[in-house]
This record gives sequence, structure tokens and C-alpha cells, in this order.
Amino acid sequence: MPGFEFFGAEERKEVNDVLETGILMRYGFDGPRKGIWKAKELETAIQDRFGVKYAQLTSSGTTALTTALVALGIGAGDEVIMPTFTFVASFESVIAAGAIPVLVDIDESLTMNPKAVEAAITRKTKCVMPVHMCGSMADLDALKAICDNHKLILLEDACQAIGATYKGKALGSIGHAGTFSFDFVKIITCGEGGVVLTNDKDIYTKCDAYTDHGHDHLGVDRGADLHPYLGYNYRISELHAAVGLGQIRKLDTFLDIQRKNKKVLKDALAKVEGVTFRVLPDADGDSASFLSFFLPDAEAAQAAADAMKAAGLPAFYWFNNNWHYIRKWDHFKNSHSLSALAPEIRERISEYATKQFPASDAIMSRCISTPIGLLWTEEETAEKATKLVEAVKSAFAVKA
Ligand SMILES: *Cc1c(COP(=O)(O)O)cnc(C)c1O
Repeated sequence: MPGFEFFGAEERKEVNDVLETGILMRYGFDGPRKGIWKAKELETAIQDRFGVKYAQLTSSGTTALTTALVALGIGAGDEVIMPTFTFVASFESVIAAGAIPVLVDIDESLTMNPKAVEAAITRKTKCVMPVHMCGSMADLDALKAICDNHKLILLEDACQAIGATYKGKALGSIGHAGTFSFDFVKIITCGEGGVVLTNDKDIYTKCDAYTDHGHDHLGVDRGADLHPYLGYNYRISELHAAVGLGQIRKLDTFLDIQRKNKKVLKDALAKVEGVTFRVLPDADGDSASFLSFFLPDAEAAQAAADAMKAAGLPAFYWFNNNWHYIRKWDHFKNSHSLSALAPEIRERISEYATKQFPASDAIMSRCISTPIGLLWTEEETAEKATKLVEAVKSAFAVKA
């Protein structure tokens, strides 16, 4: 699952190139850097690998989302529709952009339910932000049709789905913009980092400026740059970009291994009666970083997750997880902000203190995900499959 499992000589070589010159910043110092431009090189590699015209690296996936939202013109008064099952960065970035997060139910794809999206659209809706959770895709045809119909922006959070595709196109490359995260536990990593993908030159130009204090990067040197917009410092460093260069070249190897190992686990588990799997809108495009499945009820899912952990298998029971599912986002629901939020945002968020999501609960309370390792041998994978089947079967036995 995470690229850090495969850290080695490739990353060291790239980082050492940067350490040789000591130019750790991605901009300027044209002479002393001796032609070493790791961030630029990684952006080009990302454009080539994922089939997009433009890529803007950032300091994290969270800042990539904030940058994309701002560059797409989303701000005060705008509503952004996002799913109840995601990572906290979804609402963090929307709030950072000054907009209002509107949460909607997921379906058995573990991503936003297009019908729930449609029902949540108001006059203030500006953007739909699907999150391609746990390595696989949302129903992008349905979401795109809704966005086209209502003239809404589609921003794909593909932070967890690097290398996955939908109908042959890279996740993150299909909406008006998309994002990846290269944090330490993602499919490929920079240590910390992120990227905005887009095919729109105007959006890209705004991302480029926004992530570097509004610099237009057109001056003869940094001091001569103009500042057409307000911005922030969301830059990636050359050291982080160098790690990413080592990683991106290995992405296809990672994906091959994940798909092979996941198939062994999934084929074994498919023989257990009562187990069903996450719906994949395009199964061929799965990055296979996780195997996600459902038990018939919450009690069986909890028992299966416990049995898996006891057998030494990682089991994410997201229903009780305080990072990924709305149920435990008390800091969000109660607006526990260090400084005062804009009154409108605070008021709208307060709806979530009492709002219930029974449709999402009914799915998440039955769901378990287990990560797929990159370093498992064939024997280890077979052994894990056997243990997984035993653990899940034991959950049914408890019930009987
Ligand atoms: C990791 C992640 C992010 C944020 O990425 P960071 O690089 O950790 O800031 C955003 N969205 C999702 C779905 C993620 O998994």
C-alpha cells in the first residue's frame, strides 16, 4: 500500500543530487543549482504519467485541495458538496478556502452517492468534491453529468488513489481539477507533499501563483516577479520532490504488486458466504491499495475486525475511526476552531452537531478495509488469505 515500503537507492540518488548543490528551494538560485530542478522534473513526470496538461506541486495533499478550491474561484458563501466518509482534510480545505462544507451520504462504492449529491444542490452550490477513498473510484460519469447539468465544478480528491483509473483515465485528471497527496502513507510518497492536476491553463497559472505568495514567476529573478493575486506559501521543497521522483518511477511496479496480492485475498474471501465487496464503478481501474468488504451487520463486522487484529491482520473498522468518518468528528461538528470562524461557516457547520446519516451508518458499520502490502511474499500472501478467511468466518460463528 504505501510507497515507503519500497524506499531505497532511487530516492537516495535523487535526494543526493539536491544535497550536492545545497539548493533546497524549488525557485531561483539558477546558477548555483547547476541545472537541478527536482520539483519541475517531478511536475513533468506527473503530467506524463497521468495524462494531464498541468501539475502544480504543493506542500501537502491538504494544501493541494485548498489551492485547487481557491484557484477554481471557490470562497465565501459557496457550498462544496463532500462525502461523510473521507479524510478530515476535505472539510479543513473547504473551511480554509472560506467556503461551506456540505456533507452527503456515501453508497456501497464507499464514495459519495450521486443521488445524495443531487438532493443537496442549492443556489449556493459551487463545487462537488468526490473523494476516491481507499484506492478506488467514485461513479464519475454520474457525478460529471450532475455537475454538467447544474454548471458545477468537479474537484476530485484522488489523494488516496494515485494510479487508479476510471474508464482508462487517471483519477484526478477527469474533473476541472484533481489532487494527490504524497504524505508518508500514500501510494507514492515525498515524505510530505501534494499536487494539483488540471488541463486548464488558467487554473494552473493561479495554482502556481497561489502556492508561492502570488508570485507570477515571470520576472528575471524572484525580486522582479509581480503579484497578481494574494497567495500563501504552500511550496514543496526540492528534497521532498526528489523523493517523489524516485517513487513515481516505481508506481507501476507498486500497482502490479497490489493488484496481484489483493486478488489472492479477495478470491479467498469471496468464498465466505455472507461477505460482499465494495462496489467498484470501474473494477479494472482499481489501484488495489485496499480490500474493502461488508459483513451482514455491525455486530459481525466488529467481531470480524477484532478477530482479524487478533490474527495479526490490520483491519480498519472506519465506523469507529475518528479521522475518516463523520460519526466521531466532534471537533468539526462543534466548531472547535482555535480562532473564530466566519459566522456563516460556524452556523452551517453547527447543523452537523445533530444531523444523522443513517444511510452512511448502515454501510460504514458493516465495512472493513485491510491494506494490501507491497513486500508480502507469495507464501505470506497465501497465509494472510487463510487467516483472513478464518477470522471472518469466526465472526459468523459468534453470531450463530
Ligand atoms: C491524505 C489525504 C489528504 C491530505 O493529504 P496530506 O498530504 O496528508 O495533507 C486529503 N484527502 C484524502 C482523501 C487523503 O487521504
